[in-house]
Amino acid sequence: MEQYFKNNIQMLKYIHKASRFRIVVTLFNAMLQSILPVWNIIIIQKSISLLTNKQNAFAELLTFVLLSIIMYLFIILFDAWYRQNYSVHSNFKIREKIQTIIYEKIRNIDMSAFDNKEFYTIYTRAVKETYDRALSVLSTTASLLTSILSLVGVISIVLWLDAIILVFVFVSVILSMFISAVQNKSYYCYDMEQTYNTREQSYISRIFYLPEYSKEIKFFDLYGYFINKFKRILYVQDSLRRKFDFKFLVYDFIQNFSQIILVFSIIIYLGWRYSFGAIVIADFASLLNASQELGNSLQRVFALIPEFAKNSFYIDNINEFLQYSSVIEDDTKGIELQEPIYTIELQKINFKYPGNNVNALDGINLQIQKGEKIAIVGLNGSGKTTLIKMLLRLYDPTSGEIYLNNVNYKNYNVYSLRKKIGVVFQDFQIYATTIADNVLLRSVETESDIEIVIEALKHSGLYDKVASLKKGIFTFLSREFDENGITFSGGELQKLALSRVYASNYDIIVMDEPSSALDPIAEYEFNQSVLSFGKERTIIIVSHRLSTTKDVDKIVFMEAGKIIEIGTHETLMELNGKYAHMFKIQSEKYNN
Ligand code: ADP
Repeated sequence: MEQYFKNNIQMLKYIHKASRFRIVVTLFNAMLQSILPVWNIIIIQKSISLLTNKQNAFAELLTFVLLSIIMYLFIILFDAWYRQNYSVHSNFKIREKIQTIIYEKIRNIDMSAFDNKEFYTIYTRAVKETYDRALSVLSTTASLLTSILSLVGVISIVLWLDAIILVFVFVSVILSMFISAVQNKSYYCYDMEQTYNTREQSYISRIFYLPEYSKEIKFFDLYGYFINKFKRILYVQDSLRRKFDFKFLVYDFIQNFSQIILVFSIIIYLGWRYSFGAIVIADFASLLNASQELGNSLQRVFALIPEFAKNSFYIDNINEFLQYSSVIEDDTKGIELQEPIYTIELQKINFKYPGNNVNALDGINLQIQKGEKIAIVGLNGSGKTTLIKMLLRLYDPTSGEIYLNNVNYKNYNVYSLRKKIGVVFQDFQIYATTIADNVLLRSVETESDIEIVIEALKHSGLYDKVASLKKGIFTFLSREFDENGITFSGGELQKLALSRVYASNYDIIVMDEPSSALDPIAEYEFNQSVLSFGKERTIIIVSHRLSTTKDVDKIVFMEAGKIIEIGTHETLMELNGKYAHMFKIQSEKYNN
């Protein structure tokens, strides 16, 4: 309970920090809203008693109505301003504040956290839901305030006129809550049973709208196949629902019929009281109205309380995410790496992915010297990318150490380390922004930034193409947000990714098979261009094809997480081991 309270208060604090008067204004509006149902009852009471008791009461009624209109006008105007103006703009501020907290936190999440499925679920929820959850806490608090205040008002009227009505209402609300609880349980069972079908249904709808499916689905004309599948799912859903039909019908009937019974019981009770003069007609009308309002407010209060618990459950998730403490991704830790990278030494590195039984890296020893050209080769799954992940410090080894210029890797600030290493991943991403921003991986700010982009594009051989575009380097990539955007071919995208490396002054350049989709000749040219660009730099090329290996200083041949051969092309050919074997097979294949 205390935790529920703390969690909900925490969200309100975020709101308060983002939009200072939001909570006060919201609660004030909630307070005003609570007047309306109470005043509705007072109007009935007042007008009937005026008209039945007094002669010439019309003038007094008119004054009363006018005053009521003025009050209503204020309440409605305030509410309209709150909903249509104030809260909309305040929501933007809250979204900005909360989403920024979440996005900044993401920067500090270690890569390894993404391998943990449970954490990943918490993470995605936090990213998607924190803002909505905060607003939900505020609106639940406001609704609760409205309901409680109007409840207090209505109960006071009833106590003043005839307290017995409370008994009728309480009995009916408790009965209705009991029915709701049973009903919800059945709804839950029904929901659980159809989860699978609902997921399948949303899978099919994705197939129909996601562009990556459109080519195949058109070509193979899979529409009929999936439409049939869709129809079958609906049929199954329909039969499943039939199993629950009778239960739901009965609950529905009891729920509504009990309300009717309540109204008529109250009418009979009040009629009986009226018949021997215990109440007047104005009391009759207002009590009937009050009993309805009382029932509604009570139901609302009871429905709102579990909302706080539900919010609290989600906030626990958000907190787990916010309290995640990183091992690697921490800008406050470590010394700034300022000097050039002269050496990197990996000593007895073992690494195991969480949940895997075997080591992805097993006893790796490797030295990398400034200016060296290295090829890391081996079959798919041999651990090449994992080794690169260690070098980029996306992960820390399970055991063993890495030294940079003879200082332990972990002693350096990770962001300063990464500024020295440029990498093009196999699955590099292109962002829906301008070509220039995609090359720089930041916004263009100065004239010299433009020069850098142009030079980098020239190096990668993409400049002629870009120069021919109307907006040049400021052309948008992808048509998602700009209808004049451009879609590059696979080879052009690779060149673009390569330009990123050329645009910065990295000590080490890592190519993690970005060219694997190219044919061997194009891949060879691609790698040659990288090697010739970085004469002064350390270059590491990862590949499962051996087109470039003849030209590097050191070949690192990997198998099952181990380095099994290391040396130049000549020494490894002389060794006549696995590398030589693979090289011969590949050259035979490509020479034919
Ligand atoms: P390569 O780059 O040589 O193809 P990887 O380094 O990608 O090989 O993979 C080495 C081994 O680690 C493979 O068995 C692969 O299945 C496994 N692996 C790679 N990434 C992950 C991950 N995120 N979680 C679990 N296992 C992984």
